[in-house]
Amino acid sequence: MPALVALMASAFLGAAPAPSPAKLLVKNAWIASMDPSTPEPFHGYLLVGADGKLAAVAEGEPPAGLTAQQTLDAGGKVVMPGFLSGHSHLWQSAFRGVAPDQLVMAWVTLLHRTYGPFFSKGDLYAFTLHGSLDYLRHGITTAFNYSQSLNLPNELYQEEYQAELAAGERFVFGYAFPNHPPFTKDVKDFESFYSAFEAGPRSPLVLSVGLVSEGLTEDYLKVFFGLMKEHGLVAQLHYLEAPDSASQHKYFPYIEASGMLGPRMSFAHFIHTNDEILAKAGAAGAGMSWNPLSNGRLGSGFADIPRYLKAGVQVGMGLDGQASADISDPFENMRMGLYAMRDKYENAGVLHAIDVLRMHTLGTAKILGVADQVGSLAVGKYADFLVLDLGLMDPGPVFDLYATLVFACDIANIDSIYVGGGLVVDHGRAVNQDMAAISKDVSTRVARIRAKFDASKKTATAPTHP
Ligand SMILES: [Zn+2]
Repeated sequence: MPALVALMASAFLGAAPAPSPAKLLVKNAWIASMDPSTPEPFHGYLLVGADGKLAAVAEGEPPAGLTAQQTLDAGGKVVMPGFLSGHSHLWQSAFRGVAPDQLVMAWVTLLHRTYGPFFSKGDLYAFTLHGSLDYLRHGITTAFNYSQSLNLPNELYQEEYQAELAAGERFVFGYAFPNHPPFTKDVKDFESFYSAFEAGPRSPLVLSVGLVSEGLTEDYLKVFFGLMKEHGLVAQLHYLEAPDSASQHKYFPYIEASGMLGPRMSFAHFIHTNDEILAKAGAAGAGMSWNPLSNGRLGSGFADIPRYLKAGVQVGMGLDGQASADISDPFENMRMGLYAMRDKYENAGVLHAIDVLRMHTLGTAKILGVADQVGSLAVGKYADFLVLDLGLMDPGPVFDLYATLVFACDIANIDSIYVGGGLVVDHGRAVNQDMAAISKDVSTRVARIRAKFDASKKTATAPTHP
């Protein structure tokens, strides 16, 4: 029985205690639910329960007498699920525009090995908070944060987790497992983080904790996959990103031998594959995060998405960090990827607007193992959604809503953003945050890091972290 019907029935029968009042009723909306059960957009309403989850998603007008603490008349605006990013490094938000003409490895060297050693307490918190709020204001309501240890002490890089909680965005935390053989302290650190997470209390903002890799050697992957298996985690590996990364093909047998290649494993970028890797990853139901903006900025190459889909690889989409997708605009990300595939195949039918919309929402939720909680507007899932006002940058009459959303909309069309049925962004403004203070803090911290870096060049000494 749908939750709304159950709720109404129990009210009529008087058999159950009075249900807590619904939090929000959104009516008069064009709903693009991204749910397979409603493939076409429809005019209807949403009801959000007190728990921040959808209690009803239905066509037409709400039944008479249906009330909530708040009612939003969408005035015919479009309501769609918030976007997900399947691969992100949110702390990089403070480093846009760095290494503007470098391929990924030279860019990583500048970002991680040049500035990273000068990070100190509070930096990763401030930068990740900035990045999470940047995502949120661009319509990404769930991020998979592939955190990075940057060779910092464990308590410093866990600031990334704390910052995401503070931002009010929903997330899957990708715990960076450092590459320090023989990994004894790294395992201990992870176990202590994970047992604290399991013991709770847990915010509904954190959907799960996964593992993300910082190495590909046989010894490293053995420990990494051991933890994944022991705790039943999702995991993601940076793999086959750089144009010359075919040398990493030799690590694939270790991945395969782990027994963990399957729906809980995803690869970030996964561009320079070969037939064997693709066939095995597809047959196992493994996923990938396709990151067209970041891949374009760093000259990494095109993942051949139609071929991947044919092989059975689950494809989600990601914005990556803001130092490689310098604007976290999911509309631009969809267009960049879609048009690149059409150019590559010289075929405008090779991938459709609805395909990239699904990949950036429900498809990404699937590769992260959270499709039961987010990714589409369906009863029982979190009420994380965007209200899009096509009139703000009027694209004219709509012939096909999905085509209009992908080809003719951008972040300027985002009227408001809700997480768990609560307003978090109103016309670009993060309503619960002091963005001016956060931006100022980030600028001060980056200026300090750059000054220390410049001074180290003069003395040729760099600090080392334990
Ligand atoms: Zn990455």
